[in-house]
Amino acid sequence: MKDECKTKGECIFCKIIKKEIPANIVFENEHALSFLDINPANKGHALIIPKKHAETTLDLNEKELKELVVVVLKVAKAVKKTTGSQAFNIIQNDGKLAGQLVMHAHFHIVPRFENDGLDYRTKRTQYAHGEASELAKQINKAIE
Ligand code: 5GP
Ligand code: ZN
Repeated sequence: MKDECKTKGECIFCKIIKKEIPANIVFENEHALSFLDINPANKGHALIIPKKHAETTLDLNEKELKELVVVVLKVAKAVKKTTGSQAFNIIQNDGKLAGQLVMHAHFHIVPRFENDGLDYRTKRTQYAHGEASELAKQINKAIE
């Protein structure tokens, strides 16, 4: 893959794309990468990012956005199936004022469960040792 990172190697998500830091990857194609959020709101909380570094979704062109959204829904379907969730939120924080902390455009898929009492900003959960990598493998297998 061509190195398109314009952040002088500082972007954490570009580092995940380049496999410089580990992540529990659930899906990868030419355009996008999906992996489990390190601080999940619910187990199975996944992020979907374009491989091209773009700060916000508005920095992507229409073709790139379409390629990304296809993967968002593909992953959402597999997360729902694997976790047995009844529903999910697609969250996209675009810009710092909207709560974007990592300045590499991304979508969140957060599976939702009955009475999960989720306020995804303030209540996060944790995986047991080895649980996230196993779940990522299962979600990957469920991708159609
Ligand atoms: P934002 O607030 O920018 O929409 O969300 C960024 C998300 O990235 C957060 O939910 C945070 O937990 C997640 N995150 C930040 N750094 C890492 C990392 O190094 N690995 C993974 N897997 N997720 C990360
Ligand atoms: Zn980046």
